[in-house]
Amino acid sequence: MTQYIFPAPVQPSVAIHESDQRFPVRRIFCVGKNYADHVREMGGDPKSDPPFFFSKAADALVADGATIPYPQMTTNFHHEAELVVAIGKGGVEIAAADAMDHVWGYATGNDLTRRDLQSDAKNAGRPWDMSKGFDNAAVCGAILPLAQCSGVDAAQIRAVVNGAATQDSTTGEMIWSVPEIIAYLSRFVTLAAGDLIFTGTPDGVGPLVSGDSCTVEINGLPSVTVTIA
Ligand code: MN
Repeated sequence: MTQYIFPAPVQPSVAIHESDQRFPVRRIFCVGKNYADHVREMGGDPKSDPPFFFSKAADALVADGATIPYPQMTTNFHHEAELVVAIGKGGVEIAAADAMDHVWGYATGNDLTRRDLQSDAKNAGRPWDMSKGFDNAAVCGAILPLAQCSGVDAAQIRAVVNGAATQDSTTGEMIWSVPEIIAYLSRFVTLAAGDLIFTGTPDGVGPLVSGDSCTVEINGLPSVTVTIA
């Protein structure tokens, strides 16, 4: 047995809906700009560019019902409502036609973002890690096994802040479908069981401040709520 110099880090994991078992998380990938309404409002052609990816650390996961601190180093902290894909079977260069065989289930997520740092990074041509990969930045609700999911590819997706909807769209507005995302992403990296993919957010992103409660809802999936301390 391996002898570590201090106790090994705890394995990050996500609850499975109505189960005592948990989904162990390896890596968290995220898709940028994946909703047509948002790209169109910015004057772009939704399918003109292939999807692009960034990541969050698995230890940034936050569960439903958590209270998290307002993050340091920002004055413009945003929510992003997203459908999350839980990968149950790994692979590389997965064909889109086979991609759903690799999906274990779906969850609702909130891709928390330090928007000011992201804008600075975009302007300077620098990486997004510190705007996307900070502590408590990966909010993910309980995972619903794929067999219990229906209509997820055309479901209402909303962010609700203190009871008022700020984002209200449908996953049918996604430019790149879940199979297409898996196919693209697995050309760059080998996916493995335990990976999560945040699939992008519709228009209407906006700020969260101390005391706010933010719920992400996707029809047919458990919702996820966080409160900002
Ligand atoms: Mn996002």
